[in-house]
Amino acid sequence: MLRGVSLRVTRPRVAVLSAVHEHPHADTDSIIGVVRDDLGDVSHQAVYDVLRALTDTGLVRRIQPTGSVARYEARVGDNHHHAVCRTCGAIADVDCAVGEAPCLTASDDAGFAIDEAEVIYWGQCQHCRNEPVRPIEIRRVHP
Ligand SMILES: [Zn+2]
Ligand SMILES: [Zn+2]
Repeated sequence: MLRGVSLRVTRPRVAVLSAVHEHPHADTDSIIGVVRDDLGDVSHQAVYDVLRALTDTGLVRRIQPTGSVARYEARVGDNHHHAVCRTCGAIADVDCAVGEAPCLTASDDAGFAIDEAEVIYWGQCQHCRNEPVRPIEIRRVHP
């Protein structure tokens, strides 16, 4: 995959790309954790740099729902959307209706050639819906 986008194959790049494949929607800190388990000592900066290179070349997609840190995923190019839990921040993939970008027709495109639509469905994940939330827990989750 790295060679396909003309990136030199390095151990950190392979490790970060595998981590993103294995942990969809992981944030940078979790990716650093996984990569360190794999490679030993790797600097934060090195992982940030690799994530930027992978995102710039389209191997990895970066999403950042409001109020969340950036998350990364390897499922690219299909214009899928995300459901985000307001309580715990869990993220799930939601297939787009037609399977290709932009998958939604803007009511007024304002003259733009629109090539992508990004939708975030906000709500509560199944786990949080089953868990009666006590006020003290709300304060802890939203300090
Ligand atoms: Zn939740
Ligand atoms: Zn996704």
